[in-house]
Amino acid sequence: MLRMDGFTYRHATSWAHALELWSAHPDARYVAGGTDLLPNVKHGIFKPRTLVGLSGIAGGVELRDDSVKIGAATRLADLAEHPDVQRLLGPLATAAALVASPQIRAMATLGGNILLDTRCLYYNQTESWRQALGYCLKAEGTWCHVIGGPKTCVASQSSDTVPVLLALDAKLHLLGPSGAREVAIRDLYRFNGMDHLAIEPSELLTDVVVPRPGAGFRGSYQKLRTRDSIDFPQLGVAVCGEWAGDTATRLEIVIGAASPQPKPLRGLEAFLGRPLDDAAVLEIAALAHKQTRPQDSVHGGAAWRRQMAAVFVRRALTALRNG
Ligand SMILES: Cc1cc2nc3c(=O)[nH]c(=O)nc-3n(C[C@H](O)[C@H](O)[C@H](O)COP(=O)(O)OP(=O)(O)OC[C@H]3O[C@@H](n4cnc5c(N)ncnc54)[C@H](O)[C@@H]3O)c2cc1C
Ligand code: SF4
Repeated sequence: MLRMDGFTYRHATSWAHALELWSAHPDARYVAGGTDLLPNVKHGIFKPRTLVGLSGIAGGVELRDDSVKIGAATRLADLAEHPDVQRLLGPLATAAALVASPQIRAMATLGGNILLDTRCLYYNQTESWRQALGYCLKAEGTWCHVIGGPKTCVASQSSDTVPVLLALDAKLHLLGPSGAREVAIRDLYRFNGMDHLAIEPSELLTDVVVPRPGAGFRGSYQKLRTRDSIDFPQLGVAVCGEWAGDTATRLEIVIGAASPQPKPLRGLEAFLGRPLDDAAVLEIAALAHKQTRPQDSVHGGAAWRRQMAAVFVRRALTALRNG
């Protein structure tokens, strides 16, 4: 059995209350569903003295004229089953439904899914396992076992909902000691597995605002993993577009779980406004292969995962162009 070191738990009943509790304990960490944080505490990766619990804060989905506002405390199970999310933001409901297992989705929140720690084969291990290896650059060591050097951490951003939220151009509402601010989810992630989030430890993610997709919206999310019943993604591919027949007028493709930073594909403008025939689909799949550089920080060979990025893009576009 993995035990946790002792900590004090402070239960917040609102975002403002959570901020107040954090301000009284600036070394505290927030915990929502705990399905990412608590395994890391059990592995000795984090040793918080105080946890500020967010489970008393309600989530929910609110339809607005031009957007869908989703509370960060919304459970993934509720998100996956919400009729408006299924109807308007189908790929997001799909991605939420593919996270982990039913038990975990019943606890896990959207906010935690966006802010979960990066993952690595050499890092998400017990304390004694990591100690036997001499630890690693990300925690207590000096060497990256993936890169084979002392400078860079390429632990993977491994959330299922994040590639879809990037493809949908979601905005994040944050609340910190100096007030509220909005950040585009595209600007949240850095290519640094040790410090991949551009937010302060004090800041709370309160809401996620997704613009309502335009007419002719079609999209999908596909996930590569070893066991469909529970595993994290080895690769996640979100494809979202606005279509008139087999012609895309807007197209976004985002590759997740390949590196510390989700990767929007570049160069898709050239394919807009003309029918997406087989040749065009293969060209875009080739772009996916060229621009996806999976790191060996998660299971599955990097070359295979790179190839699968192209396969998933080809499959998605072939299905979406046919409606
Ligand atoms: C066996 C297993 C399998 C899993 N499989 C998957 C998978 O397939 N796909 C996947 O995406 N994830 C997976 N996960 C990870 C995890 O379950 C999800 O990412 C989940 O959505 C995390 O949400 P949470 O509410 O439990 O986050 P928590 O663990 O509570 O928090 C995660 C991080 O976010 C911070 N945080 C949470 N909410 C806020 C907020 N509102 N404001 C500021 N900071 C906040 C916490 O401080 C912490 O650093 C798996 C976990 C396990 C244990
Ligand atoms: S990528 Fe390297 S530094 Fe980062 S967690 Fe893995 S082994 Fe550690």
